[in-house]
Amino acid sequence: MATDPILALDARHVWHPFTQARTAPDPTVIVRGEGASLYTADGTRLLDLVSSWWVNLHGHAHPHIAGAIAAQAHALEHVMFAGFTHPPAATLAARLAAQLPGDLNRLFYSDNGSTAVEVALKMALQAAHNRGEARTRLLAFEGGYHGDTFGAMSAGASSGFYAPFQDKLFDVTFLPYPATWAGDPAVEAKEAAALQALDAALGEDVAAIILEPLLQGAAGMRLTRPAFVDEVMRRVRGAGALVIFDEVMTGFGRTGQLWAARHLQEVPDLMCLSKGLTGGFLPMGVTATTQALYHAFDGDAFAQAFAHGHSYTANPLACAAALASLDLTLSPQTAGHWARIGAAHAAFMPELMAHPHIQQVRQCGTVLAAEIHGAGDYGGNTSLELRQFFAARGLLLRPLGNVVYLLPPYIVTNEELRRGHEALLAAATGFG
Ligand code: PLP
Repeated sequence: MATDPILALDARHVWHPFTQARTAPDPTVIVRGEGASLYTADGTRLLDLVSSWWVNLHGHAHPHIAGAIAAQAHALEHVMFAGFTHPPAATLAARLAAQLPGDLNRLFYSDNGSTAVEVALKMALQAAHNRGEARTRLLAFEGGYHGDTFGAMSAGASSGFYAPFQDKLFDVTFLPYPATWAGDPAVEAKEAAALQALDAALGEDVAAIILEPLLQGAAGMRLTRPAFVDEVMRRVRGAGALVIFDEVMTGFGRTGQLWAARHLQEVPDLMCLSKGLTGGFLPMGVTATTQALYHAFDGDAFAQAFAHGHSYTANPLACAAALASLDLTLSPQTAGHWARIGAAHAAFMPELMAHPHIQQVRQCGTVLAAEIHGAGDYGGNTSLELRQFFAARGLLLRPLGNVVYLLPPYIVTNEELRRGHEALLAAATGFG
């Protein structure tokens, strides 16, 4: 029985995500954050090298974002967003639209990554319906993760999480995902097979494809080559279907560019953002699309409209956090951090690849991942044991099965990065 009073309350009343309470160790009580570090009540420091589920960009409790939220809270905390608007929502939409690729300049707010995806899927399906087209099928890639709501689960294919709901999910055609890594000899054959499967799946009934461009996150930081993604987009467009980018994880600089889309020639029709949107301070999602798609919802009848919304749509505090985070994200210092972290990972890769228990090393911008050969699968004990191994070294790293990855906040220091790299080698020695 927990002796810490907070743990005792937690153990009695709180239900944690992705946790088997019977076998999981007690959660760690965090009371403070600063820079890339989190602190327990007794001052123990945990270096957050996964940006707290990939949301934090500029460090914990960053004063610029904290101050913006406080100022907004004193002016307007919230107002319903049907029939009302407010300065932070309109300004944020305009500032994001100016940065988004192509003509993705019409934005719909929601609450998190899953809802940003739900909105995109519903928009794609309803746009076809409104236009009188019988496009009702969706395509997605094997291994994709788009969130835990029903639409997002339907479009995802993650490790058996969805087994209890299988007969409740809607019909999505899954394509093989040509994951690749440094020195992969088979990448071209895998891409050719995936394109062949795409051609077979495309038809006049397809409304859209959804994908995590360049980097599948939850599947284990699995990379694809930009030219492959561009080719997929061209073929999907050629068949008259829409392309939805799920940039919930890749957005706001993780790939070394503001968007994964900036590595590509083609531009998606819809783009989902969340996680880094508020710098990791408050939950919010955005689904960006084109004016052309927006106009598919024009009409005299309300039935043509997009009848979707949430109580907290465009919450002013979250918008203020996102605006403040965007100030920091678009600064030259942050672009410098992307380059610095990318260069540090790249310099470390040869040593990592030379380790006898390491395989399939891949890097995309600020994200570095590798598999520990012989360590167990997703959901097995190994990832928990690895987590404890890293925690004992003062590091928050949360492997996906045998995939260990670093996805740090951008203000991480070189010394802190080096600690992460060394721990990765030590884990490979200990667990391989
Ligand atoms: N899409 C991607 C690519 C993600 O990585 C995630 C979360 O990990 C989601 C969607 C779901 O986001 P959320 O957890 O905010 O619902």
